[in-house]
Amino acid sequence: DTTKSSNFLRQIIESDLEKGTYASRRWAGSPGDAAHHAQGEPDPAKIRTRFPPEPNGYLHVGHAKSICINFGLARDYNGVCHLRFDDTNPEKEDIEYVNSIVDAIKWLGFDWNGAPDAAPYQASDYFDFMYRAAEYLIEAGLAYVDEQTPDQMRANRGDFGKPGVDSPFRNRTTAENLARFREMRDGKYEDGAMVLRAKIDMASPNINMRDPAIYRIKHAEHHNTGNKWCIYPMYTFAHPIEDALEQITHSICTLEFEDQRPFYDWLMDRLCEGGLLAAPAPHQYEFARLNLTYVITSKRKLAALVNEKKVNGWDDPRMPTIVGLRRRGYTPAAIQAFAERIGVTKSDSWIDYSTLEGCLREDLELKAHRGFAVLNPVKLVLTNWDEVMGAGHLEPCTQPALPHPPEGVESPTRHFTIGKEVWIEREDFEEVPPKGYKRLFPGNKVRLKGGYVIECTGCTKDADGKITEVHATVVPDTKSGTPGSDSVKVKAAITWVGVADGVNAEVRMYDRLFLDAQPDAGGKDYLESLNPNSLKVITAIVEPSLANAAAGQNFQFERHGYFVADRVDHVTGAKPVFNLAVGLRDSWGK
Ligand code: ATP
Ligand code: MG
Ligand code: MG
Repeated sequence: DTTKSSNFLRQIIESDLEKGTYASRRWAGSPGDAAHHAQGEPDPAKIRTRFPPEPNGYLHVGHAKSICINFGLARDYNGVCHLRFDDTNPEKEDIEYVNSIVDAIKWLGFDWNGAPDAAPYQASDYFDFMYRAAEYLIEAGLAYVDEQTPDQMRANRGDFGKPGVDSPFRNRTTAENLARFREMRDGKYEDGAMVLRAKIDMASPNINMRDPAIYRIKHAEHHNTGNKWCIYPMYTFAHPIEDALEQITHSICTLEFEDQRPFYDWLMDRLCEGGLLAAPAPHQYEFARLNLTYVITSKRKLAALVNEKKVNGWDDPRMPTIVGLRRRGYTPAAIQAFAERIGVTKSDSWIDYSTLEGCLREDLELKAHRGFAVLNPVKLVLTNWDEVMGAGHLEPCTQPALPHPPEGVESPTRHFTIGKEVWIEREDFEEVPPKGYKRLFPGNKVRLKGGYVIECTGCTKDADGKITEVHATVVPDTKSGTPGSDSVKVKAAITWVGVADGVNAEVRMYDRLFLDAQPDAGGKDYLESLNPNSLKVITAIVEPSLANAAAGQNFQFERHGYFVADRVDHVTGAKPVFNLAVGLRDSWGK
């Protein structure tokens, strides 16, 4: 439904498809080395992209951008997007994170690896190949074991404009390197005693090319491979290999990896020359990460908010995590539209939070059922009701759930009743109306939307002067939808809920989590700009259709905004709980 605008990635892919850059690739049904893929059929996937999260936290709105880019491109160009857990760091398996990532991507509307419910790939499945690739580099004279201390290595790496200094271990023989590397693998040395380095160029202007470390010693158990390994590949070495084994064509990442692309290409070229990988190798492309105002997108900082109890968990509706956005009432369509709208560029910029909100409003405007909710209630008594309508009478009323249903959809009807007493918003009555005020004040007529025209007669107050009741009379024969109902002209219609059938609901009024538009820019302490009023819990009164909402269902509370029945705490019919998703209008500029 969203129109796709071109971007540099689409142009690259279209050009590759036209030139047939990847037409010769074969796919053997699963990831593998050159020999494995040689047995495969021509790859039915025109392109392969991948989304490679580290399962060390919950995904956030920045990841959503990357997901929409990678899965979206695969979908649009008859390709396949791989979900690969980048688990090359031996770390405790956190199945909680793995499951949450799987759920988030499914919820956003994508599937991976070419089949619904396919198992995600795991980078750690490629450790054997990575080890072989490392030995190959040693045998080809392209890697060496360096026994300098980490400090010496750092000092000798040089700096911008200052070439590095060769390690005294740089010119070891192949046999010596191989023996040492195997001893590293066999557990002969302590963590940090030595590393395997690619042998490239210590004078390269790109510091990433000054013999980067590719394997390190780490005596740690891995959730997938157990105690098989005490050496682990570095990210810069592992990542290109993961891409190549999976026959990825376009490896799309954020700009901070740009300086690592030369090593990516160097490694791919060497392993293709050696026959370990099949050409054409994947190619890396970089785009600008998402920076969203009033939001932080760093897993570490988000984890701190959770651990320090600044929010109620990863799925707190104020969190920019995908689970948080979902619980807040965001829809997959809104997030996909957002990713499309912000586009893909190569230069960093800040996106205004209101852009994300606008996408949600646009998605919900036609789809979300309407309902009446009174957020700040005061009782309205229709003093002539019993006389005109009959004592205790409750008059059934209806309203469309969807005033502007999308093509081919018929609007469901909402049912509720009006009686002698209804709840209205406190703000809809003024004893002494300010200039231009069109709602209830003594002598003025308004319509109770979907009900009757009423004429305000006054109010009662308590000892402190607080209004306890608003009084009005009902104007007979003005019920909405009946002939002649509009014979009495009014300047305003207000929303309301009957005292007889209104239901109390907990409503969580959320506001931005941070007061500073760039809470963590330039090393600022983001905790200092936490908004102390980011959550206000109120008891509202809602019409019966809202009390019967399904958990997770989106609504427009008329005149108030978009709300969602809380996925976790709402109990249909028994305990309604709603979260404010977004107001009806942009209020961020205020
Ligand atoms: P964080 O820095 O928050 O810990 P990460 O980059 O370490 O995130 P990964 O799990 O490695 O998290 O990310 C998976 C993918 O999501 C990577 O390809 C990364 O480039 C991308 N990604 C992460 N943050 C953003 C962002 N703000 N905008 C766009 N893409 C992002
Ligand atoms: Mg990362
Ligand atoms: Mg990161």
